[in-house]
Order: sequence, then structure tokens, then C-alpha cells
Amino acid sequence: MKMITKEKLSREARRLLFPPRCPSCDGLLAPDENSICRECEKLVVKVRGNFCKTCGKLLKNRGEITCSDCSRYHHIFTEGRPLYEYEGPVREAVYRFKYKGRKSYADAFAYDAMELWGEWIKASAELIVPVPMNAKKLRQRGYDQADVLARAISAESGIPYMHLLDRVRKTVPMKALSRGERQNNLKNAFQVRDFDVKLKRILLVDDIYTTGSTLDECARVLLANGASEVNGIYISIGG
Ligand SMILES: [Zn+2]
Ligand SMILES: [Zn+2]
Repeated sequence: MKMITKEKLSREARRLLFPPRCPSCDGLLAPDENSICRECEKLVVKVRGNFCKTCGKLLKNRGEITCSDCSRYHHIFTEGRPLYEYEGPVREAVYRFKYKGRKSYADAFAYDAMELWGEWIKASAELIVPVPMNAKKLRQRGYDQADVLARAISAESGIPYMHLLDRVRKTVPMKALSRGERQNNLKNAFQVRDFDVKLKRILLVDDIYTTGSTLDECARVLLANGASEVNGIYISIGG
């Protein structure tokens, strides 16, 4: 008998087998809810309106084009877009998505990705690629959240997914590191698999954007291999 994996099932079939939950409160979604439930909509800040043209961070003052961070540092990726601000229930949502086995949130995130950035995604990506996790971590955790999300966005958008990058060098956790330390930590950490990325516009998928060092380093290797442009999408920004 042929095995059908969860990822290969259609969204509707998946909804029946694995009832979808609201990433914010973890409660079951009503049949007409697709991502954050109606109750939580009030608590979650979706990124739209006045945002940094480079990293997507929400801007406080009118007339600003980029955030203070992006106006000081040059990024190697072209544009990045977050779904939500990293605060309150979004922190917990990302935590459960990464560490508590709530892979099923990927459908909700992909739904919001298309709702918030669907046109931008279709205009700026020919290939959807997850930011990879190292092999040891993957064995411990059993799944790679960025990979699960990349597949879900690919399924929603119809843009091909490919696991193009590998993390080939061990890196230390980034949380407590400065920008410079992050860049050093990531140097030569990623490698492109044997696939022709020449002239391709690539959309990288990650969970959290902090300084952009990870996206930059992935973008650097992809551009060095001939990609024409590298953009990024992530669940949340800030924190
Ligand atoms: Zn909720
Ligand atoms: Zn920015």
C-alpha cells in the first residue's frame, strides 16, 4: 500500500483528519475560521499598512520608508515580510509551533501569508526554500518548522518548494548574540544543494526575524550560486 503523508493530503482532507487550531489560543477553529480565531484577532497584530520596505517591521512614524535598523545596515536579501508582530500570543504560538509539535499551525500561517502578502509572494518568488535547521536538532525535534511552513506556503501559492539549503556547520544559539557575533556565528554555515538556482528569484521561509543575519547569510550563498534575487517571509518580527 502506498503511504500518503500528511503533507500530501489536500487542505480540506487535512482539516478533517487533524482539526485545525488557532495558533494564538490553541483552541479548535470553527469551520469558517482559517487562521487566527475571531477572539484572538483582537490580540494579534498582523503586519500591514506602514511597514519597513526592507524587513517589514511596522513603522511608528508616517513618512518613514525603512526602519532605523535597515537604514543603518545593508541587507543582502532584497525584501522580507512578516505575518505578525512578535508579542503576546504570537510568542506562544511560535513556541508551540517549534517545540510542542503543533505542526498543524502551518496551514493557518500559510493562509495568513497569502492573505497578507499573496500578491507580493506571487510576484517575487519562483521557488520557496526553507531556512534549514541543523541535522542534530532535526533528529531531536522530529521536524523542521520552517520546512513545514515552506511546504504549506508552496501548497497555498502553487509556487514550487525545494529544500535547497543545508546547515553544514554547527552554530550556537543566537538569542544572546550581538549583530556582529551573529554574523560570525553564521559564516559558511549554509550550503546550496546540487541544483541550478541561476536567475531564480527565491523566497526564503523562516519563523522569526530578529536582525536579519540568518536571511542575509542564506541569501549570500544563494546569490553566489547565481540566484537573481532573494526575499524572505517569516511568521513574526521583533522580540
Ligand atoms: Zn484563538
Ligand atoms: Zn527594516
